This record gives sequence, structure tokens and C-alpha cells, in this order.
Amino acid sequence: MMKDEKKNIAILGSTGSIGTQTLEVIAANPDHFEVEVLTANSNAELLITQAKKFNPNAVVITNEDKYAEVFEALNPLDIKVYAGEKALISVVEMDTIDLVLTALVGYAGLMPTIAAIKAGKHIALANKETLVVAGELITKLAYDKGVNLYPVDSEHSAIFQCLTGEFHNPTEKIILTASGGPFRGKNTDFLKTVTKAQALNHPNWDMGAKITIDSASLMNKGLEVIEAKWLFGVRYDQIEVVIHPQSIIHSMVQFTDGSIKAQLGLPDMRLPIQFALSYPNRLDSDFQRFNFADYPSLTFEQPDMETFRNLKLAYEAMEKGGNQPCILNAANEIAVEGFLSDKIGFLEMSDVVEKCMGILPHISQPSIEDYVNTDKETRIKALEIIN
Ligand code: NAD
Ligand code: MG
Repeated sequence: MMKDEKKNIAILGSTGSIGTQTLEVIAANPDHFEVEVLTANSNAELLITQAKKFNPNAVVITNEDKYAEVFEALNPLDIKVYAGEKALISVVEMDTIDLVLTALVGYAGLMPTIAAIKAGKHIALANKETLVVAGELITKLAYDKGVNLYPVDSEHSAIFQCLTGEFHNPTEKIILTASGGPFRGKNTDFLKTVTKAQALNHPNWDMGAKITIDSASLMNKGLEVIEAKWLFGVRYDQIEVVIHPQSIIHSMVQFTDGSIKAQLGLPDMRLPIQFALSYPNRLDSDFQRFNFADYPSLTFEQPDMETFRNLKLAYEAMEKGGNQPCILNAANEIAVEGFLSDKIGFLEMSDVVEKCMGILPHISQPSIEDYVNTDKETRIKALEIIN
């Protein structure tokens, strides 16, 4: 393959769980992909190591205190080094980028994603919070710009894989699977006392801290329901969640003739990452293969939305629409930080979210400024509730 047929990739959040696995995929497929940009929040050491190995055109370190360290290491190698949030937003506009993989965590992904879409870059989207906060705006902008949003989240990749070849057929229902996390089957009395070490111990997936807590509280599934609504253009009552503790079926689509398609495999994020990068092609991989004999039973149960209130709150936010999912997301980000710094207990995270949803004013047709303000005001309110 000719060099200029390779896809040039910008990875936002290259030092995280998704970012490092994306680099593994790229390293295994040097004929297909090239790294154009790497960015990190504050892990200068890993960013430097990655840049030395993948030789990108530019890197961004958001934490400006780390600029000198990164500059001194990479400037002699002719790698451009930028720092700060503004640089993260402008770097995605570089002419040479074909696709931007958004692997940063939380609301911080919103502005760079908007900038990338405005610059006409296709998006491989891991940063689900961006679609939760502003799904309507993002999907409309992508449509207007002719930009594709390729899902990286394993459930949404599964749905996308089920829909490939079926885009002209109406979807009756999307069935998102959830592992149930480390506290599946536990009651409120138990959850009152759980520690962050217990919550950080996910049974099937090794992920960043924020999404691991979200998985334990089922907020991750709530965010994914909203993400699915925007990615696949379905109503909230067409999205169902089923608990599937083995995480082998990654999600399903039911069509209007009643047929259900599922995508299966061992839990390994490199597969959905690779598919998002290589779509519409499938590339060879040496990922471990699934063996049915190792899993004599795949089981399914209803989610317990009374004990795990976050999932219900997410459905409520989605049904109300407007800035409600933005409120839900901002309150949750502060609540997770509060739990991880031992300021609140596990169940109090849902209290913070529910209170914020009740207090912050509803805006039915938010502009981008409304989202920015809603996010800011919700964080202030959530911190007041916690402290
Ligand atoms: P992580 O915490 O491991 O990594 C986050 C990355 O973003 C790091 O490179 C960090 O430097 C950067 N970052 C963090 N805050 C930032 C900020 N304020 N500004 C700029 N950069 C910042 O997170 P992760 O587990 O890789 O998750 C990344 C995203 O992918 C999240 O939205 C998550 O929900 C989603 N996702 C993750 C997984 C997974 O298996 N880890 C699966 C599905 C979806
Ligand atoms: Mg997921």
C-alpha cells in the first residue's frame, strides 16, 4: 500500500486506557495507519515515550506546567509541541489529519470534538460524554459537514456492526448489554458501605478510573443509552438494557421482522477500536479468539433500576431532553470525583445527580453557550451539595 493511502490519526487522550490500546492497534497495522497527533492531560513521561516511538507531527500537553519537559524532549526530534486547552482545540484542524479518535475523558472532549467536526475530520468516538452533553448539536453538525462518527464504545461498535448492510432497514429496538459491574445483585445496605477499591475492581474490563466507577454505579450504561440514541437515531423507548455478566454479547439490534442480530467476542477494546479505524474494512488481528466451550452458559437478567438509580436518572434525562443530559453528566463527573476522594459514599453519587437535575433550570433548545453554562453551573451546584 502506498504511504499516502494510510489514514493519519490524531489521538486525543493517548495516554489513557483507550489511547494506549489505540496505539497498540496502530503499531500492529503500520501499513494502514500513521500517528499524526498525540495529546495528554498531564502524563508527560508517557506522552514523550509514545511520541518517540510513533513520531507524530505534533503533540499537545494540556497541563501547561509540563510544557517545558515535553518541549525539551521532543523539539530536537522535530515534533511540534503545544500546551493548553486552546491548543487541543486548534490542533485537530491540521490539514494532514484524516480521523480524530477522541479518547479523553468527560466534558473535556466536547470542544475539541466540535472543532474537529467543523474542520471536516471523521471522528472515532470513545468519549461518550460528548454525545451525552450535546448529542443533538454534535450529530447535526456532523451531518451538515458530511463527517462520520464511528463508535469505539464496545456496545455501540456491536450495534454498528449489526447495522452494517442494514442501514436502509428500520430498527425496532436496540438492546444494550451491561456486565452489571462488581456490585451486580447487591442491595442498598451493601452499597452504602462499599469502598472505592471495591468499586474500581471491574470483573471484565480494565479501564480508566472514571468509567470504572460509572460501570459500578450503572451510570456508564445510562450514558451509553443516551449515546446510542444519538448515534443511531432511535427514541429512548426503543433502547433496552439487559444485564449479561459474561460480557460476550456486546449488544444487539432487533429489526421490524423480529430478527435479532448480535455481535460477540471476548471483551477486548482493541477490536472495536480497530473496526472504528478501518471501517468499512476488517483487518486481520491476533486477538484471542472466543471459544464456546469455555462459556457453557451465557446468562441474562433485568437491570435493577431501583437499587442502581443512575440508570433510571439517565432515562429520565434523555426523555426530558434539552440540557438535562448535560446536567446529569456534569453532576456525575463531580460526584465521581467526590467518591474517588472519599468525600461522599457510593449511593450519594446518585443523590448529587438527582438533586442537580431538580435544581438547575431546564433549557429545551440549548445553544453551545447554554451547554457551557449548564456544565459550569451544575459543577458549582454539585460541589455545594457535596461540601
Ligand atoms: P483514561 O482516564 O484512562 O484516559 C483519559 C485520557 O484523557 C488520558 O490520556 C488523559 O491524559 C486525557 N485527559 C483526561 N482529562 C483531560 C482533560 N481535562 N483535558 C485533556 N485531556 C484529558 O480514560 P479511558 O478509560 O481511556 O476513557 C476515555 C474515554 O473513552 C471515556 O469517555 C470513556 O467513557 C470512554 N470509553 C472507555 C473504555 C475503556 O475500556 N477504557 C470503553 C468505552 C468507552
Ligand atoms: Mg461500553
